[in-house]
Order: sequence, then structure tokens, then C-alpha cells
Amino acid sequence: MMLFHSGIRRGWLWWSLSAFLLFVIYEIVETDVPTAQAFVPAMPAANPGSVARLIQRPYEGLKVYASYTGDIQVGGEAMLDPKNATVHPEELHKQFVPAIAYLIYHPREGFLLFDTGFGPAFVRSSNGDLGWWTKPLVKTRVHAGQDLISQMNRLGVSRSALKYVILSHGHADHTGGLPALGPVTVLIGKGERDAIAQPMSLLHAYKQAHCAHVARLLEVDFDRAPSLDPLGRAVDLFGDRSIYLIDSRGHTPGHLSLLLNLQQGPMILTGDVVQTRRAFRDGIPSGNSANIGDAYAAARRLAATQEQIPALRAFYGHDAEQAVHALQPPHFYQ
Ligand SMILES: [Zn+2]
Repeated sequence: MMLFHSGIRRGWLWWSLSAFLLFVIYEIVETDVPTAQAFVPAMPAANPGSVARLIQRPYEGLKVYASYTGDIQVGGEAMLDPKNATVHPEELHKQFVPAIAYLIYHPREGFLLFDTGFGPAFVRSSNGDLGWWTKPLVKTRVHAGQDLISQMNRLGVSRSALKYVILSHGHADHTGGLPALGPVTVLIGKGERDAIAQPMSLLHAYKQAHCAHVARLLEVDFDRAPSLDPLGRAVDLFGDRSIYLIDSRGHTPGHLSLLLNLQQGPMILTGDVVQTRRAFRDGIPSGNSANIGDAYAAARRLAATQEQIPALRAFYGHDAEQAVHALQPPHFYQ
């Protein structure tokens, strides 16, 4: 009996060791993240100084399609900081949440994407292309035809029509559509490339192989960017006051949000700084934040902007109720 038990123990030990070694080899082999260059806007930046002044002159012709590309199961701490005194334990349950990719049309510059949600690999498997060993850990639900590429095809937008793919950050539920887009130019916040490329970054929710086919990786440096009060440091993407990249580091080192100066009122795509309407209103970031202090500061700037500009429309990181009620393509926001 003793022998039998020690045999089982030895078996388990070997199994665990082999699985760990395979994992290490797999992680080393998969590393293929292009080096980043600095993003330099083609046009001089417009600096209205505040969101209130910016939206006095909306930009004509911008359109935003919110493509609901599937759901992913997350723990409650991913949605709200469990250490926040106002967060009730009942709010911290495991749940399926939506992953949205935003296709943006700019009348002069063409199409952009903000985040990519899930691609076709996630229709075929509940953990997509994240690797066999993640099967028990990752659960996604993407119906046939729901993935980003199918939705772009239905809208008649080809991958080559994309000027930039902007990533709020590099977590796999935001880069899942990247591999199927081919050699695109990707914009991320400074520091994010190194976070994606760090050893074993899959343990931090990154998937390095999602970036393997990226043609150019451009990093936006906010450190010398002017402030768009009360949102904070902002870079005018095209120098025409239409779209601003907003520094919202904290959830990850290079996290950014997007402000759109739309005709029918401004819109902010928060990314994962705040995951839901409740988190946005009360300025509570995700508990899974790389730097929780920075994440709170970013969430508070968003909440302050909403308070100052009640007309501000917002899309949050992963709000299930919002995704269900949002306009579905081919309908769009403008
Ligand atoms: Zn996310």
C-alpha cells in the first residue's frame, strides 16, 4: 500500500515537473513581440486645454461601430477592487463579461480599431489560441459569425483598410482579434510592449503570439503630452481635434483610453480602467491592476469628467448590460 502511494506521488511529481518544463519551453519558444518605435503624430497637436472647450467644436463625420465579439469568464476582483470599502461581497462573483472591439471611421484617415476582442480562433475553441494548458483556466464564448473578422466582413471593411489598431492594453481579451488581422500597425501606450514581452507574461493575461504578425508597433509617450482637463494627459491622434489618446495607466503600465469628439456628443472608450457603469460612476478600478494607485487616479479622472460633462457617453471595459443594449453594427454612434 505504501509503495502504491509513493508510486502515485512519484507519478504526480514527474507529471508536474514535465508539465512545468513543457510550459517553460512553450513560453520561451512563443516569444515574438516586435520592438516598439515612438509614435510621432503626423500633424501638430491641437491643445484646447479642457474637454469642455474641445467639445464646443465637434468633429463631423466620425462613426463608431461597437462590435460585441464574445464573452469571457472572469472573477469578481477583475471587475471591482475587492479592497474598496464600498464594494459589497455580492458584487464579486464569477461571471461572463463581453469583449468589445470598436471600429471607428474617420472621414479623412479611414478606419481604425480600438481593441480587437476575439478572433476566429475563439469560435473553434473555448480558450481560443491561448495554448492547451490554459484549457481549464480560460473560458470564452464566441458564436460563429460573432468574431471580429466576421463582423468586419459583414460591414465590408477589409483588414488593409485599417490605418491603426489602437490597443487599450495588451491583455489577451483585447488582442484576440489581432492574429487574423495580419500585418497591421498597432498603437499602444509606452511601457505596454515590455509588459507583453516579459517572461511568462501569459501568467499576467498577455499572449505574446497575438503580436507576432504586427507590422509596426508604435508606443505613445504621454509624459510630455498636454492635459485635457479633467481627463489628464492626452495626445491628439490626427492633429484635428477628432480623436484623443488618453493616458490611463494603472490597470497595466501602458493602458490608454480613447476620447472621440463626435457630432452628437463626446464619447469615451475607457478600456479596462473601469469595467462597468458602477465602476465608472464611483471611480473604482479593477482589483487586477498592475499599479492600483495609478488605476484609482485614472478612474477618478474619468469620474470627474463625467461629472463635469453630463453629455459624455462612455463605453466601459466589460459591462454585460451595456453590451446587450448597445447599438449593434451596421448601426453606429456618431
Ligand atoms: Zn479586458
